Amino acid sequence: SARDRGLASWLARRASFDPERVAMTFGERSWTYAELQHEVEAFAAALVRLGVRPGDRVAFLDLNHPNYLLTLFATARLGAIFVPLNFRLTAPELQFALADSGACVLVYAEPFAEAVEQIRDEIPCRAFVRTPDDEAGELATALVESGPPQEERFVDRDDVALIMYTSGTTGRPKGAMITHDNLLASIHGFSLTFDTRADDRTLVVAPLFHIGGLNVTTLSAFLNGATVVLERRFDPDRVLRLLEERRITTMFAVPTMLVEMARRPGFATADLDALRLIVSGGAPVPVPLLEQYLARGIDVCAGYGMTEAAPLITIVPPGRVLDKVGSVGLPSFFTEVTLVDDQGREVPTGTPGEFLVRGPNVMKGYWNRPDATAATLADGWLRTGDVGVRDEDGFYTVVDRKKDMIITGGENVYPAEVEACLVEHERIADAAVFGVPEPTWGEAVVAVVVARDDAALTEEDVTAFMADRLARYKQPRRIVLVDELPRSPSGKVVKGELRTRYADLALRR
Ligand code: ATP
Ligand code: MG
Repeated sequence: SARDRGLASWLARRASFDPERVAMTFGERSWTYAELQHEVEAFAAALVRLGVRPGDRVAFLDLNHPNYLLTLFATARLGAIFVPLNFRLTAPELQFALADSGACVLVYAEPFAEAVEQIRDEIPCRAFVRTPDDEAGELATALVESGPPQEERFVDRDDVALIMYTSGTTGRPKGAMITHDNLLASIHGFSLTFDTRADDRTLVVAPLFHIGGLNVTTLSAFLNGATVVLERRFDPDRVLRLLEERRITTMFAVPTMLVEMARRPGFATADLDALRLIVSGGAPVPVPLLEQYLARGIDVCAGYGMTEAAPLITIVPPGRVLDKVGSVGLPSFFTEVTLVDDQGREVPTGTPGEFLVRGPNVMKGYWNRPDATAATLADGWLRTGDVGVRDEDGFYTVVDRKKDMIITGGENVYPAEVEACLVEHERIADAAVFGVPEPTWGEAVVAVVVARDDAALTEEDVTAFMADRLARYKQPRRIVLVDELPRSPSGKVVKGELRTRYADLALRR
């Protein structure tokens, strides 16, 4: 309809152009664009009967499932706001997101029933839709019941489509308000960069509660009229099989997924001829990992992004993968990037500075957090809190988070560099580096290290390994061997927790 300029209208338009084309498959089931559009209209009618009005928040809690995308499009069609929830959150964390967003409807799947029961009286939801734990792709019956189709609402491109919570790596998650236009700008840039097309088959295994899984490949595929092969969860053997059997052409994967796939015996033998592109990001993509894929003839294009930028900020274009292995590439289409020092002055080439980002993909602000919004968005620029370097060819590298930088004896140490060195040791599985207060140097560098399986590893082994690999001031003064690192629900190491736990380590003997 002419009154809808949001993301539901993109799907409607595609359904009118290519009704018979396959839009999505899930397990053995598939939907054409016309069928998908029909279901979206039914879901929207059901949401109206549940009382959803423009601007209301509709929260969703399940692993990947067709219900996810149908609820998203139906919510968008009503001019309401979709709130995808991280399925790894604990009950109190879910309570926070539901209360903070003020969600009026919660669609959730069976495995989460117990958590929802625990917090039911503490959250603002008026209606609950419970769906089975389903591998087969049955649509939520409560949402497909037939009823009179609802008139479309006026949806503007500048309206908020999603409230998406950030990972909470640096503190309490914040609800980024992402508009229809933010989504469109990001995926337009993606499509132009990678020449995505109607004959693409896109594998979606990344969780849809992250903007990388939801927007980058999924919504862009629908805009293009391509086929989304949706998977409930990530299983490396199954992914390798699907890449071959379904002749998958593109996928988005976070680095840990790429690591797990490369470890499987099937990695060396799978027929990956159809696969033309893997896009990765969300965390550093280690160079040895990229090399493993390149050796297999697969280009992995790294990107740097964040929830607040919907998410693309910089990207390695497909023709440039071999130019700058280890870099996160060039500013994405329509997006301006600059690096600044603590006074907000642009830094010269080769000097680390904080990434600032401006463009149509940058969020409207944080939901209900005027102070955080004001601290993050100034003069149209988004302050990322990430530190990067630009080289003489304009390629960017992410150095680390600003908050994580250690200053020891006046020298800046970026933990990411030290961590990358540590995990090169064959008996180290995982490592986190951070600073703790130390009277003489201000801060001392500390490493918390996890040994690989049952490998024997001592502090002296680690110290000796770093001696000729890192400048002396970067070498950790203390090394702590642990079984496991504290991680946020999205899999990122929670440095704040480590800093608190080991705050007095430099003083201990
Ligand atoms: P919070 O803001 O709540 O503390 P978060 O920043 O981890 O959590 P996300 O939006 O999921 O939440 O993650 C974005 C961050 O991930 C970026 O700001 C950056 O620090 C990191 N990141 C993303 N892509 C890359 C990359 N290619 N290399 C290194 N770091 C990356
Ligand atoms: Mg962040």
